[in-house]
Amino acid sequence: MPELPEVQTTVNGLNRTVRNRKIVEVSTSYKSAYHAGKDNIKNPAFFKKFKEIVEGRKILKAERRAKNVLIHLSGGHTIIAHMKMTGHFVYDRPNYPFVRLQFNLDNAKTLALSDMRKFAKVTLVNTADVNKSMHLEHLGPEPLEKNFQFPNFNLQLHKRPRAKIKTALMDQILIAGIGNIYSDEILWRAGVHPLSAVSKIPAKNFKLMFAAMKKVLKEGIDFGGDSMSDYRNIKGEKGKFQERHRAYRRTGKACGKKGCKGVIKRIVVGARSAHFCPIHQKLYK
Ligand SMILES: [Zn+2]
Repeated sequence: MPELPEVQTTVNGLNRTVRNRKIVEVSTSYKSAYHAGKDNIKNPAFFKKFKEIVEGRKILKAERRAKNVLIHLSGGHTIIAHMKMTGHFVYDRPNYPFVRLQFNLDNAKTLALSDMRKFAKVTLVNTADVNKSMHLEHLGPEPLEKNFQFPNFNLQLHKRPRAKIKTALMDQILIAGIGNIYSDEILWRAGVHPLSAVSKIPAKNFKLMFAAMKKVLKEGIDFGGDSMSDYRNIKGEKGKFQERHRAYRRTGKACGKKGCKGVIKRIVVGARSAHFCPIHQKLYK
């Protein structure tokens, strides 16, 4: 699933390509009885309203909030898209596979949402209400914001003192934007076992986790996101962060930490897999 760096890469790509373009027409092949009555374009009645509003609007700019892409339109409307498992936006890629939503633009090019597994969520809200909408209101602080410093990080995670650190790092209510890949990478770098209890981790390691979080998320953006799975950038190309993994999906491989003789292990934590080095990542419980 795209996490903060992948979503930011998409948002940067949208701002480079479709900013100030007008949406001439929008079409979708999403349709699901499960979404009846919901504010989601998979509900045909909602898509009808969506189409009426977005056609003829100009794309003012794209922004990211947690793992959501926000596309601000003229007329005071904002499209919120959560790419979920396999969703990604591509620009000017005719005949791209698994396109479920397509915007035809005034330059005769298209912006498309490819989504093989059809789990993406797309909705529309008033721009003025975007942050207090039910889609975003529960989200915790943005970890890469300059004013998100160690005391905030420490405070946020300690709101769940008994939680396992891997679960707490991925909890969008505590900190927004971190998922399975980056939490594994943060914990490997900080030397903390994913099953450690938040309240038992020494302050020194908390500081290491904070520094690793800032570093790994920035690195993810610098490397154009992670494409070990389905993520592709706006051009339909792979990112390169998967080449930087030290833990995520490296089960059975030697730990890359200098002087460490560990072998990366995989366990399940709260229905998600965690990859870690059992030697240098210490368990605090
Ligand atoms: Zn190790």
